[in-house]
Amino acid sequence: MEENIIISNLNDFIFCPRSIYFHNLYYQFDEKLFHSTYQQKGKEAHKNVDSQTYSSKKNILQGIDIYNEELGVIGKIDLLDLDNKELIERKNFIKTIYEGYYLQIWSQYFCLIEMGYDVEKLSFYSMKNNKKISIDLPTDENKRRLKEVILQMRSFDLFDTSFSQNPRKCEMCIYKELCDYYKK
Ligand code: SF4
Repeated sequence: MEENIIISNLNDFIFCPRSIYFHNLYYQFDEKLFHSTYQQKGKEAHKNVDSQTYSSKKNILQGIDIYNEELGVIGKIDLLDLDNKELIERKNFIKTIYEGYYLQIWSQYFCLIEMGYDVEKLSFYSMKNNKKISIDLPTDENKRRLKEVILQMRSFDLFDTSFSQNPRKCEMCIYKELCDYYKK
């Protein structure tokens, strides 16, 4: 049986496939040692949700474990407003909705649907500027793209010598000191 893909890794993979390797390798260490302030803030945005302290209202589900058998993905949701049938993914600050963000929330959506939840709306919430951004439900084409990326993740070869990366991304990468592709 193939290993499940962790939903939060989709965003990392889109940023750089090699970063998944470093993420998994150093997972057991204190992440504060190598997470930038920016990413640490993003993680803190999720802290209340992960510890399920965001809301005690019964109509809000927080940080629940999710799984989709068809896609082979596992993870957690941020918030599901059962009254509004709305799935909300919070980020510390959203300037641009990157493809990785879409892949994450689409995966969460497909998990919830397969698990039997009713979800009719998807939104991102940018905490710093208190802005909610609603997006459409994923189309068949979106699902195809999600499956394509999942397939790429499963088949990615860390030692593929044809790999190349945008140096600007490497500059922003939290794993750059560990990665032999980062040229100083
Ligand atoms: S330093 Fe560059 S190539 Fe290495 S993991 Fe980071 S983004 Fe990828």
